[in-house]
Parts: sequence; structure tokens; C-alpha cells
Amino acid sequence: MEKVKCIIIGSGPAGYTAAIYTGRANLNPVLLEGLQPGGQLTTTSEVENFPGYPEGVNGQVMMDDLRAQAERFGVDIRPSVAEKVDFSTRPYKIWADDGTCIEAETVIISTGATARYLGLDDEKKYAGMGVSACATCDGFFYRKKVVAVVGGGDTACEEAIYLASLARQVYLLVRKPYLRASQIMQKRVLEHPKIKVLFEHNATGLFGENGVEGVHLVKRQGETNEQRYDLPIDGFFLAIGHKPNSDIFRPWLETDEMGYIKVIDGGPRTSLPGVYAAGDVADPRYRQAIVAAGSGCKAALEVEKFLNEQG
Ligand code: NDP
Repeated sequence: MEKVKCIIIGSGPAGYTAAIYTGRANLNPVLLEGLQPGGQLTTTSEVENFPGYPEGVNGQVMMDDLRAQAERFGVDIRPSVAEKVDFSTRPYKIWADDGTCIEAETVIISTGATARYLGLDDEKKYAGMGVSACATCDGFFYRKKVVAVVGGGDTACEEAIYLASLARQVYLLVRKPYLRASQIMQKRVLEHPKIKVLFEHNATGLFGENGVEGVHLVKRQGETNEQRYDLPIDGFFLAIGHKPNSDIFRPWLETDEMGYIKVIDGGPRTSLPGVYAAGDVADPRYRQAIVAAGSGCKAALEVEKFLNEQG
């Protein structure tokens, strides 16, 4: 069986940063790219808030750059997906979908999270053309425009408030007659002059020639007084939660009730020695590329320290 000092699972900013650091430290890491090589950033258009790119950078280009930087330090990047792990004893075992099994002294989990979508065909049709699941990433493109945010939790409220600082008008589409968000966030949203909360509203589709120009809405869906109408908007933002990609690790690691891997003191250490979690898979709060990259760096430094201590 193949034996390695360090395996990195996932290829977003956290995984590649961990790869650059461990590669540079001569640990000969293996990185499994996963289902979506490059991670969530490959689905956004322009990244303008990652330091070092004064003109902004295309998300895919940035991830290609990170990959090239990891390759420069000899990282063994494989186009495979980790399917199963056994963390019962060290070295830890990781099975990939290409049929291989790797034994690793240390593991960095950087499998990210996946934004939840409503499941409408139009969300795919208008991906990158008016549909987004990240206000911080894409809000800037909607200055003085009209946008809708779907969701009634804290994320939706935060995104609506953020977007209201840029857009001309923000509609918050809430499927229930009340918000789920904390009281303080509810108050901010309900009192915000630029945010209009549309309770008991569901989006059923989008329309537009060259990008989103509006959303088909149903008010009180299924009730006798159901109403259907179209609302003109320029941007459609999903904020109905994220799902951390932690399923295969849950039998072995502590996670919170949503599945985010629990880390110690906000660093990358998990409940198992030599297993680290970096990026969105352990971060329900910030979910930013720069934060993920930072935590990937920390995980790599922990790996180096751990291996040194083990001799
Ligand atoms: P939540 O699970 O709290 O909220 C999801 C929202 O999306 C709910 O309003 C839910 O509606 C709605 N929703 C889900 N599916 C659909 C659907 N198919 N159609 C329409 N609406 C849908 O997720 P969040 O991401 O908002 O928050 C996750 C956690 O992170 C929470 O614990 C939150 O408090 C926390 N958080 C804290 C922040 C802070 O403290 N500053 C900031 C952001 C998040 P319904 O209510 O009907 O189920």
C-alpha cells in the first residue's frame, strides 16, 4: 500500500495553500482534487477581494494559479475523489475513487462546503449571469441595481444588508410568514429603508434575455388566495444555507449539528492527532477564500510540527 507523510483532501484555496506549504517543506504531499477541482471559486466570475490582485482576477484563473504554485513545489495532484477513510489507527487510510488506498501519517481535510440552491433549472441556466450564492463575492456587480435574496436565516439577512449597501433595492424572499434569523438581524432587515421583505414568497423561475431580468414569484403557494406575479430584478442571490462536505469523516471526527468539523481553539486541529481541517468544511462563519487559505497554511504548519515531534 502507498504510504505518504501528508495527504490533502480537496483543492480549494485551503487545500492548495496547505499543498504549497507542505510541498515547500519537502513533505511530498499528495493532494486529491475532489469532485470540483478548484472548489467554489471556480463558479464565481470575478474575485476582487483576494489581496494581491489589484485589478481582480477570474475565479478559475486564480485557482489555476494556486494549482501551478503547488505543482512548482512538487505536490502530487491527483484527479480523484476521497470516497472512504479509516481513522481508527495511524497511519490513517484513505480510499480514492480510482481504486487506490493511501496510508498517511497526517491528513488535511479541505473539502469545503457546498452552497444550497433551490433546485430550479434557471439557477443553472443563469449561473454567473445574475445568479449567485455569495453576496460578498458578487454584490459589487450590482451597484445601484435591484436584487433579490432567498432565505430567512442569519445568512440571508446579512447578505441582504450587505447588498443594500450597494444595490438600489433589495427584496428578501422568505417562504414562511416569519424570519428564522436572530432578533437583532430581523430588526435590522425590517427597518432597513432599502430592503423589502416579501413573506410567504417562493421563487419558481427566472427570466431574461442576456442574464437575469426578473423572477417568477408565487405568494402563499397552494393556498386559496395564491398569487403569481413577476418581479423585475438584476441579481438573484441564494442564502438558504451551506452543506459542509464532511460526510465521509463524520464517523471519525467530531462535527457540529450542521456537519462542520469541530476544530480546537479556532485553529486547524481536530479531535484526532495528525488530522487537520482547513477552510469552509470547518468554518460556518467566515467562508472567505482568504480565510480558507490562511487556515490551510496553519494546517500545513501543524503537520510539519506534528511530524517533527513524531520523529
Ligand atoms: P439557516 O438554516 O439558519 O437558514 C436557512 C434559511 O433558508 C431559512 O430561512 C430557511 O427557511 C430558508 N430555506 C431553506 N431552504 C429553502 C428553500 N428551499 N426555499 C426557500 N427558503 C429556504 O441557514 P443560515 O445559512 O442562514 O445560517 C446557518 C447558521 O449560521 C445558523 O445557525 C445561523 O444563525 C448562523 N449564522 C450566524 C451569523 C451571525 O451570527 N452573524 C451569520 C450567518 C449565519 P425556513 O425558515 O422556512 O426553514
